[in-house]
Amino acid sequence: MKRIGVLTSGGDTPGMNCAIRSVFKTGVAMGMQVMGIYHGYKGLIEGKVDYLTHESVENKMHKGGTILRTARSSAFMTEEGINKAISVIKAYGIEGIVVIGGDGSFRGCMELANRGVPTIGIPGTIDNDMGYTDFTIGFDTAVNNVTNEIYKIRDTMRAHDRVGVIEVMGRNCGDIALWAGIGGAADLILVPEVDISWEEAANRLAQNKLRGKLTSIVMIAEGAGKAEEFVEFVRQHTDVEIKATVLGYIQRGGNPSAFDRVLAARLGQRAVELLNDEKGGRAVGIRHNSIYDVSLSKAIEMRDEFDKKLFELNEIMAKF
Ligand code: ATP
Repeated sequence: MKRIGVLTSGGDTPGMNCAIRSVFKTGVAMGMQVMGIYHGYKGLIEGKVDYLTHESVENKMHKGGTILRTARSSAFMTEEGINKAISVIKAYGIEGIVVIGGDGSFRGCMELANRGVPTIGIPGTIDNDMGYTDFTIGFDTAVNNVTNEIYKIRDTMRAHDRVGVIEVMGRNCGDIALWAGIGGAADLILVPEVDISWEEAANRLAQNKLRGKLTSIVMIAEGAGKAEEFVEFVRQHTDVEIKATVLGYIQRGGNPSAFDRVLAARLGQRAVELLNDEKGGRAVGIRHNSIYDVSLSKAIEMRDEFDKKLFELNEIMAKF
């Protein structure tokens, strides 16, 4: 392959720039021209394509967000939109495409692959909700961001003998709440994968108070409910003093962690190697610290497995 393209799609994640840089550098090392496709599939349809250069990727890898910008595109989910995208790909002489994004982006990637465009998916989403890979780019940074915030919130909660409830991202996957909860010594973690009723949760907080533990930290993934509603529930059923914080977009911004940078670099390299071997319709991921690849359809199909053992570890550490 002589000319490939790279795009970022769906939610941005810290580390996407490192993956773009890796795709560019690995491609150049293999004698390829690497084109940046701006604003995800939307930009692909609109022909927002330009050569990447050393200047465009230089001094960007420590920055969050994505230099290629990102977007969600409903037009790309129509036959007309995909056909337009394919005509742009042909017009620019692009022979293969690397897509960095979450499972929605991978579905789009597969649509292109099914129509004969060699495509490779790189997992980029802070939620870590893709079952075929142990980690997605951005997750580690988000966990670090949240862990740092937990300690700030704990300081002020402790000063007032209050319970702090921290809502984090994760509609279907509680990994951010779980990992940051363990990193930040949370007393209770509420995630969509584990059924803990709010009655039970409120009881535990009331019991903590009875045994003299006035400050607790509760992590709640958005898929397990809203922090404000949980706080209201606890207020109605106990005499615990409790406040909610919704962390929002600060989880997703900022410098990527070293782990995410290295992961992105490794995944980017494998993606380009696959295209160089004329292999498309694949997703790259990490299992037991080895980079590997699977078909896009398998990557999309594989359900994410929640780490129950890790969850139970927190239950033990919070209890004793
Ligand atoms: P995040 O995890 O951050 O939400 P994501 O990649 O899952 O990232 P989505 O909004 O689900 O984000 O998908 C991004 C884009 O991928 C969509 O806006 C759409 O353009 C494309 N896409 C999603 N599903 C499909 C599909 N079934 N067919 C074609 N394109 C799709």
